Amino acid sequence: MNILSAIIVFENLHEVRRLCHWGPIIALTVIAVCSSMAILDSIIWYWPLDTTGGSINFIMLINWTVLILYNYFNAMFVGPGYIPLGWKPENQQDTMYLQFCRVCQGYKAPRSHHCRKCNRCVMKMDHHCPWINNCCGHLNHAYFTTFLLLAPLGCTHAAFIFIMTMYTQLYDRISFGWSSVKIDMSAARRIHHPIMPFSVASFAATLFALGLALGTTIAVGMLFFIQIKVIMRNKTSIEVWIEEKAKDRIQYYQTGEEFIFPYDLGSRWENFKQVFTWSGTPEGDGIEWPVNEKCHQHTLTIEQLKQKADKRVRSVQYRVVENYNGACCPLRKGFNTFLRTPCTEEPRIQLSKGETIFATRGTKWWMYGDKVLDEEQTKAAVRVRGWFPRRCVEKCLYDSANNTSASEEKKDK
Ligand SMILES: [Zn+2]
Ligand SMILES: [Zn+2]
Repeated sequence: MNILSAIIVFENLHEVRRLCHWGPIIALTVIAVCSSMAILDSIIWYWPLDTTGGSINFIMLINWTVLILYNYFNAMFVGPGYIPLGWKPENQQDTMYLQFCRVCQGYKAPRSHHCRKCNRCVMKMDHHCPWINNCCGHLNHAYFTTFLLLAPLGCTHAAFIFIMTMYTQLYDRISFGWSSVKIDMSAARRIHHPIMPFSVASFAATLFALGLALGTTIAVGMLFFIQIKVIMRNKTSIEVWIEEKAKDRIQYYQTGEEFIFPYDLGSRWENFKQVFTWSGTPEGDGIEWPVNEKCHQHTLTIEQLKQKADKRVRSVQYRVVENYNGACCPLRKGFNTFLRTPCTEEPRIQLSKGETIFATRGTKWWMYGDKVLDEEQTKAAVRVRGWFPRRCVEKCLYDSANNTSASEEKKDK
C-alpha cells in the first residue's frame, strides 16, 4: 500500500472527484479495453505464456499498461500547479506589469492564466484537457507528454496483437487465396490447443478493440507532436497566440518595436531540460522563469497588458434589440443562427432588450463579448461573457476617445 501511495501522490483526496467526468471515464475505458483484450488475445490464442516470446510479449503488455496509467494519473492528480490565491509579487512595484485575477483575488504570475474549468490561475497554462479533466501546465507537462507518447506506442503493440490473432485464427478456417503473401505464420503453425475456441464474440471484441487502438494511435499521436513542439520551443499554445497578436499589434500601429519571445532559451535541448528532469519535477517554481538575455521577467506580461488595452479600444459596443434565452441552437433566431452555432464549449449568454455588450470577436451569425454591467455587479467581480446571436444586437455609435457610447438610434433600420 505504501508503494502504491508513493507511486501516485494523492495530494488532496478530493482530487479523486476529477475521475467523475466523461473524459477520464472514456479514456480509462479505452485503456482497459485495449490492454485487457491484448493480454487475453495473446495468452489464449496468439502467443501463449509457455513460450519465451509469449512471456516477453506478456511482460511488455503489462509494462505499457502500468506506464501509461502511471503517467495518466500523475498528469491528472499532480495537476498543473496553481498560483496561490491572493498572490502578489515580492516587489510591490512589479504589480504594474501584471494582470489582476478577480476570481483568485491575486495577480497573475508570468505565464499563468485563469482556467474557468479549474477556477484557478494555472502555472504556465497550456490548455484545459477534458481527457484528464485538469489543466496541462507547469507541473504535469512532462507526465502529460510522456502519456501522449506511450499511449500510441502501447496501442500499436496491441493493434499488432489484434491483427495477428484474427489473422492466425481465421487462417485455419477460411481460404484467403493469398498464400503467396509471406507472413511469418510460425505462431499459427505451432501445435497449440487454446483453452477456448476463437468464437464470433471473440472476433467481434478483438475487431472493436483494434478500432479503438488504431483511433487512439492516430489521435493521441497527433497530440504528442503538438506537445513536443510546445516543449522544444518552450512556448505554450496560449503563448503562440499571444506572440501572434503581438506581431499583429506592432504591425497595426507601426510602432517599430521588436517582440522577442522571452522563454525560448535558444536551444531545443535547453528547453527540453526545463520540463523533463530526472526527478520528475520540472525546473523552477512556476512563478519566476529563466528568460532570453534580451528580455526580462515581465516582457510577456507587459505585452499582454498592451494587448488588453488595445482590445478595449478596438472592441465595439452593441445594444441588445432582441431577447435571447441563451440556448445553444436557438430555434427562433433564424435558420443560419441555428445551424452555424460556434463549435466551442464557451458559454452562451442570455440577453434582454436594452442591455449593452462589448463585442470582441464574431462570426457571420454569432458574436462573442462581455456584458456591460452596473456598478454593483462590477464591484462584485461578476463577469458575463459568451456567445450570442448577431441578429439580437445592433451596433452603437461608439466614441473610443472618452469611452462613452453616443448610442444614437439608427433610423434606417
Ligand atoms: Zn484566477
Ligand atoms: Zn483547467
